[in-house]
Amino acid sequence: MSDISNPNEGNADAILKAYLDDLAAGVCPHCQAEIKERKQIGRCVYAFPCGHRLYQGRAPDKPTRMHPYLQGKDAWEEI
Ligand SMILES: [Zn+2]
Repeated sequence: MSDISNPNEGNADAILKAYLDDLAAGVCPHCQAEIKERKQIGRCVYAFPCGHRLYQGRAPDKPTRMHPYLQGKDAWEEI
């Protein structure tokens, strides 16, 4: 009895969660192959050896600047 008239609504959370679960488990969300390496190519990160694009952004070896909230809630106390 699922509503298929709006596939992007409701299911999106489940799809995103499954995607992130696969990434966290070191598995390619596209083909379920083991991710042996993540490579930065341009703005995107690709899984190897399967070669699928994982996401736009930075590979884990180049951490981006952390959001203040993640560094400690003190940053927000004066707001
Ligand atoms: Zn893949």
